[in-house]
Amino acid sequence: MRVTGGQVFDLEKDFVARDLCTDGGLLTSSSVDGETLDANGCYVIPGLIDVHFHGCVGEDFSDATPDGLRRMADFELSQGVTYICPAGMTLPEDQLKRICENAAAHKASAASGAELAGVNLEGPFLCMAKKGAQNGAFLHDPDGVMLHRLQEAAQGLVKLVTVAPEQPGSLDFIRSAREDGITVSIGHTTADYDTASAAYAAGARQATHLFNAMPPFTHRAPGVIGAAFDHPEVRAELICDGIHIHPSVVRATFRLFGADRVILVSDSLRATGMPDGKYPFGGQEIVVHGNRATMADDPNTLAGSVTSLMGCLRQAVRFGIPMADAVRAASLNPARAIGIDHRAGSLEDGKEASFVLLDKEDLSIRAIVFKGTLVQQ
Ligand SMILES: [Zn+2]
Repeated sequence: MRVTGGQVFDLEKDFVARDLCTDGGLLTSSSVDGETLDANGCYVIPGLIDVHFHGCVGEDFSDATPDGLRRMADFELSQGVTYICPAGMTLPEDQLKRICENAAAHKASAASGAELAGVNLEGPFLCMAKKGAQNGAFLHDPDGVMLHRLQEAAQGLVKLVTVAPEQPGSLDFIRSAREDGITVSIGHTTADYDTASAAYAAGARQATHLFNAMPPFTHRAPGVIGAAFDHPEVRAELICDGIHIHPSVVRATFRLFGADRVILVSDSLRATGMPDGKYPFGGQEIVVHGNRATMADDPNTLAGSVTSLMGCLRQAVRFGIPMADAVRAASLNPARAIGIDHRAGSLEDGKEASFVLLDKEDLSIRAIVFKGTLVQQ
């Protein structure tokens, strides 16, 4: 396939007017099959990678149902999200094990949809005071042995885990998670600057939905946000749905961390792609109105978003983030977080041919190509 006439995302020059060629499932320097795709008036960007979302189209990853996961993968691909690393909630270990087993079974048999590139365990190693929408009844002290059992159930698919570093045993937990090949993120935490800095020094590499469910960044108490900034190898997740973070803070965070350290995440719930109403959520209930989702028993607690990652990318651009920076934060940076950047996350020859054509005027999707196959136009 030869994609012609588009502005192609480029890691050095932002966007370049060039053809993009595929051979089989990979990007190549030239194409021989004669198939062409017209990209005039379009950006050509890498397929997006969502490393923190819970559900969509009425399904939740934590339900651990094969059908639900397949429907989630299908919906995400239809939104231009070509690789997914869905997140489990704070639940008992036997349910977390079922979530991991379901993911491994899906990975072995999936015939359609976005690629399941990893599993994110957002719970249960969090703190009660900042549990947010997580179920406090199932919180657990950081436990590297439990995490190892879950990694075995997932057949190595667990790529991300969140921990509150003020909880007992967190530094040992961080070290053992790394031995299991898992990126540790700091979140749902009351940690101060020193506690968070010690966690980053021990090998944590990410901050879970920066600003949300953690102490604020203030002049004498910089907290997790200051600690993350002071460790250059740490990346920060940002929920850019227009609800969780004020546009000014989105702009400030991109300036502070730089575009290569921000990971746009959707944190989307099962109500994403569904009408307003009440929905079950990790053993609790949420209310969805417009693009706002809150806990049914506490209208002041946000439960997550109902915006897909592509919607978050459009919001970021609307808020003034340069297009190329927003694209990088939703593709290459998350690819690095879960260790798939050697094959996904940018449009270089030899990488997988997963990309999206977006109308340059309104960023609507014109076409989606997944591993060399046109799946939507
Ligand atoms: Zn969360």
